[in-house]
Amino acid sequence: MKLVEGLAELRDELEAAKASGKSVVFVPTMGALHEGHLSLVEEANLVQDAFVVMSIFVNPTQFGKGEDFERYPRTLPSDIEVLSMLGQPPAVLFTPAVEEVYAAGLDAPLKPRAGALGSVFEGLARPGHFEGMLHIVSWFFELIRPEVAVFGAKDAQQLFLLKRMVHREFNDSIEIIEAKTIREEDYLAKSSRHRFLSSEGRAFAPNLFASMVQVQEEITEGQLPSAALAKARTMLDRQPLAKLDYLALVDKSTFSPIGDGFSGEVQLLVAVVVDGVRLIDNITFYIQEPA
Ligand code: AMP
Repeated sequence: MKLVEGLAELRDELEAAKASGKSVVFVPTMGALHEGHLSLVEEANLVQDAFVVMSIFVNPTQFGKGEDFERYPRTLPSDIEVLSMLGQPPAVLFTPAVEEVYAAGLDAPLKPRAGALGSVFEGLARPGHFEGMLHIVSWFFELIRPEVAVFGAKDAQQLFLLKRMVHREFNDSIEIIEAKTIREEDYLAKSSRHRFLSSEGRAFAPNLFASMVQVQEEITEGQLPSAALAKARTMLDRQPLAKLDYLALVDKSTFSPIGDGFSGEVQLLVAVVVDGVRLIDNITFYIQEPA
């Protein structure tokens, strides 16, 4: 695994890889790596003739005022160690400096815009988050020009917006691989932010997944989605430690909330703030037409 900080050096590496017939597969992260991130590298390596480039960059523009940009964990030495121990580490670990990424300054306009979807669910709680996220990923895409990029299903709204960006701005020239969410033994989706949970918060956190599974089961058994959601919301909201932000069902193909008559593939989204730590998760399932 080659450690690369500079843009010129990265371009040289990419040129050599492309000249030797490799496919560039890109895995963006903010570091503080856990098994979820490592599974993305594994997915990336499954691409034929893959030349895997992982980035670690804590992107300032996707954090709002008062969010955890300053305290976001930065653990580069141990990240490098964990990656080096993999059977197949990335070919390149790219860790650019903020000044190089934002050469025009952090206040320069961000593009592309996230539109209406940028201000619902995660976007409502975190204004500007998706503009920052789309900006940094498109900056990386322009620089790296990957054939394939790998993202986790855990961040459903991010993935939806990225697929739309690849369609609109990159002419579908990049294949997006959606890697499944990696969970702890109690099904809590792994996250770099778990280290900030108290032991009570950590004990409560698996309720997110449990509530989603309960909603799925109830709908599959014939209950109306609105009723199943209302019941689970009450359950999640009863906990003094946790503040439910949203629990919602969206049509997977449009990311619009569904009504009770809907049938098709849905995503159930949840966001809860536990101990001041924002936890999100989702599951995908199918709602059958009534018999
Ligand atoms: P982050 O470093 O948290 O910004 O995430 C970088 C990438 O890892 C994104 O594509 C995330 O969706 C993905 N990711 C984060 N947590 C998980 C997880 N538990 N399982 C699978 N992918 C994940």
